[in-house]
Amino acid sequence: MAKTKYKYNPETLRFDRIQRTFGERFLRFLAYFVGSLVLAIMYGAIFTFLFDSPKEKVLKRENAQMRLQYELLSKDLDKVEKVLAHLQETDDNLYRTIFEAEPIPTSLREGGIGGVNRYEELEGYDNSRIVIETAVRLDRIKKKTYVQSKSFDELKDLASEKEEMLSRIPAIMPISNKDLTRTASGWGYRIHPIYKIRKFHYGMDFTASTGTEIYATGDGKVVRIRSSKRGFGNHVIIDHGYGYETLYAHMNRFNNLYVGKTIKRGDVIGYVGSTGLSTAPHLHYEVHHNGKKVDPANYYFNDLSPEEYERMIELSMRSGQSFD
Ligand SMILES: [Zn+2]
Repeated sequence: MAKTKYKYNPETLRFDRIQRTFGERFLRFLAYFVGSLVLAIMYGAIFTFLFDSPKEKVLKRENAQMRLQYELLSKDLDKVEKVLAHLQETDDNLYRTIFEAEPIPTSLREGGIGGVNRYEELEGYDNSRIVIETAVRLDRIKKKTYVQSKSFDELKDLASEKEEMLSRIPAIMPISNKDLTRTASGWGYRIHPIYKIRKFHYGMDFTASTGTEIYATGDGKVVRIRSSKRGFGNHVIIDHGYGYETLYAHMNRFNNLYVGKTIKRGDVIGYVGSTGLSTAPHLHYEVHHNGKKVDPANYYFNDLSPEEYERMIELSMRSGQSFD
C-alpha cells in the first residue's frame, strides 16, 4: 500500500497532496533497488573478508594440520640426525680404528646434493619454506645413511679378515695359570739371577715344575727349534704372521715339533724345564712385534679380565729378580 505524500505550500498555507507520474515512481523504485543491491554486495564482500566460507574453513584447518605434521616431522628428523651423528662418531673413532681403516672424510659424509635445483617444484607456496627445508634435510639424511652403510660393508669385510688375525696374534698365557700364582717376573728392569746386575727383562717368567705343559699362544708356524745349554736353553719360536712372533725358552723338551709345523693356539709345544741360563724350572716367554720385543702382559686378553690383568701386572712387578 503506497503511502500518500503531502507537501506544505507556503503560498496557500496548506498541505497539498503530491501527485507523481508513473515514470517518477519507476525511477525512484529503480534508485532504491540499485542502492539496496550495492549495499548488499558491500555487506557480502565485508562478510566474506571477515568470515570464511565452510570450504575455506576446512582447507585452513587442513593446512594448519599439515603445518603441525611438518613440525613434528622436523622434530623426528632432529632425533634421526642425532642417532646418525653418534653412529658416525663410533664408526670413525672406534670401529674403523680397530680395523685400521682411515676415517671417512667429512667432505664425503657431509657432501651436498649438487646439480639442478631439485626443490623448484616445491617453491612459490605459502608453506614452501618448511616443505623445502624438510625435503633438504631428508635428502641429507639419505646421503649420510648411504655413506654409513657403505662404511659398515667395508668394516664387515675387514672384520672377517681380522677373524683370522685374531686367532693368530698371541692372546693367552703360555702355561696354565688360573690363580696367576705362576706369574713370577715381568717386563722391565730386574736383577739378573746369575750376573746379579740390573738388566732389562724382555719377557715374562712363569714358575712351574719341570714337565708342566707349554701352550702355543696363537695360531702360527714353528720357525725355530734350538737345543742348547746356554742362553735360552732349549727354545722354540713361532711365527704368527701380522708381524708377531713368540719365544718359549728353557724348555725341558719339545713336543713333536719340526720347523714349518702348523700350530694352533693352545697346542702343547713342549714342557717346562731349566735349560740354558736359568736358576730354577720356569718358562721364559717373549712376544715380538715387527722385530721388537714387547711386553707379553698386553697379550693375554683371551685369558684375563681387566681385574686379573691388574693383578698380573702387580705380581710381575713385585719380584725384583728374574729367572731369566
Ligand atoms: Zn725370563
